[in-house]
Amino acid sequence: MKHILITGGAGFIGSHVVRRFVKSYPQYHIFNLDALTYAGNLENIADIENEQNYTFIKGDIVDADFINDLFAKHQFEGVLHLAAESHVDRSITDPLAFVKTNVIGTMNLLNAFKETWKGNFEGKRFYHISTDEVYGSLGTEGLFTETTPYDPNSPYSASKASSDHFVRAYGETYGMPYVLTNCSNNYGPNHFPEKLIPLFINNIINNKSLPVYGDGNYTRDWLFVEDHAVAIDLVFHEGKNHETYNIGGFNEWKNIDLVKLLCKIMDSKLGRPEGASEKLITYVKDRPGHDLRYAIDASKINKELGWKPSVTFEQGLEKTIDWYLSNEDWLKNVTSGEYSKYYEKQYN
Ligand code: NAD
Repeated sequence: MKHILITGGAGFIGSHVVRRFVKSYPQYHIFNLDALTYAGNLENIADIENEQNYTFIKGDIVDADFINDLFAKHQFEGVLHLAAESHVDRSITDPLAFVKTNVIGTMNLLNAFKETWKGNFEGKRFYHISTDEVYGSLGTEGLFTETTPYDPNSPYSASKASSDHFVRAYGETYGMPYVLTNCSNNYGPNHFPEKLIPLFINNIINNKSLPVYGDGNYTRDWLFVEDHAVAIDLVFHEGKNHETYNIGGFNEWKNIDLVKLLCKIMDSKLGRPEGASEKLITYVKDRPGHDLRYAIDASKINKELGWKPSVTFEQGLEKTIDWYLSNEDWLKNVTSGEYSKYYEKQYN
């Protein structure tokens, strides 16, 4: 059985990737390494915890000795690296945490992979999962391509940009076989409710205000998380070594229009009069260094690997809202304790 390491598999995107790999590839043993920070939640993958080809390991990628021992023990032939500090607002208040996990943690994995295989890289692969935020901000026109120069503006995107550079550098310097993807904003089940879509779903359910940054004209490209997991599967198996692929939803929305659409669907799901949830919208002070617009040109992955999103935004949102409405206990569990203190500090 091939040993495959997936990091961050108790988080939002990682949980969908782990489930897909465990279920689709009985010839792999999937090791899910996660530190279970505030964003990691074993409930996200409770349905696969007893599968024969699956092992969960609690551990921190910042701990080099622990990572080296883990690689020496299990000889991972493939690594899919998703573990990260992922929230831009948190990176503004605690940038160092982002350097530790996103930069040092990635370096530790690269070093351990390199030392395990010592140049004998045939059939091995290191896959780094990254974000379109490394490219900085677009004006009202244009799209990010794989050759757009890096221009990160937040401590989060700077730390992800740094880790992307190290992955490429290890490919060039040590001949390490890697693939890298930069993806747009994801949404879907298991998304921690500090991010826009689940935050607003949760607030609409609880009749709390909907804090929209600035004038609401910030624009993002949204992708349903299961479509991202399909793309990750494809790139891991069929992507070319030393290549980057941009992944996006061909689905740009201004924040304010997205919030209004969410309100409309939620009103109908909750049996509220049309327009009731829109009244909860409040404009709040802008995030510093806020990028105006991100939009991905995903034509390379489309042409070379035949990938495209399988659901429309309306279908994906509907699935997402239904999931949150039928998993209110999950929401209550993750929004209690530490998170409620963070929320009060951030928005009140
Ligand atoms: P998330 O915050 O939901 O999950 C991150 C996971 O990593 C959590 O389970 C957490 O416990 C774990 N983790 C954090 N620090 C760790 C450490 N030091 N050691 C081990 N585990 C640790 O993040 P996500 O939204 O699922 O994002 C996953 C990856 O995809 C990240 O690398 C992110 O940069 C990238 N990405 C995210 C998006 C998005 O829209 N969410 C878009 C593009 C790329």
